[in-house]
Amino acid sequence: MKVVYPGSFDPVTNGHLDIIRRAAVTFDEVVVAVLVNSQKKGLFSMEERIEMLQELLYDYDNVSVKLFSGLLVDFLEDENIDAIIRGLRAVADYEVELQLAHLNKYISKGKYETLFMVAGTDVSFLSSSVVKEIASYHGDISNLVPDQIVQRIYDKYKEK
Ligand code: ADP
Repeated sequence: MKVVYPGSFDPVTNGHLDIIRRAAVTFDEVVVAVLVNSQKKGLFSMEERIEMLQELLYDYDNVSVKLFSGLLVDFLEDENIDAIIRGLRAVADYEVELQLAHLNKYISKGKYETLFMVAGTDVSFLSSSVVKEIASYHGDISNLVPDQIVQRIYDKYKEK
């Protein structure tokens, strides 16, 4: 089964990586899809997000990283993907995710399922926003994102 794990990944966190690693073990193929959001200018450019993910996931033979814009279900159709993977942290995620799952099922006329993986207990409080908030005040993010990207995140705030 080939699945897509879509998100903003601005930047990727240990929470995202936990889901990706577990999905890579569970499914044949995982496509990490970085969503282009024209409404929201992120901290990192699309190219930077993809570069970081590719560096970190280099060792995973069945994981690839792609950019996508437009409707997620069109992306699934074009890439021959079977289902969508999302992560669930707390009840707050559930409400948003439930709506998205229904929506994607509706616009694909029932074709695409969304499958949920529960966040690891050690990363269930973690989001890209939390990482950005802490990094913007020079707080310690070393246990929240992989070592390889810690400095890149601090550098972004130095640029600003
Ligand atoms: P979005 O922009 O769609 O919110 P994110 O990049 O923040 O995308 O997250 C993508 C997916 O990863 C979502 O399903 C989100 O719930 C999940 N996720 C984010 N952080 C974690 C975490 N710490 N543990 C598990 N899942 C997570």
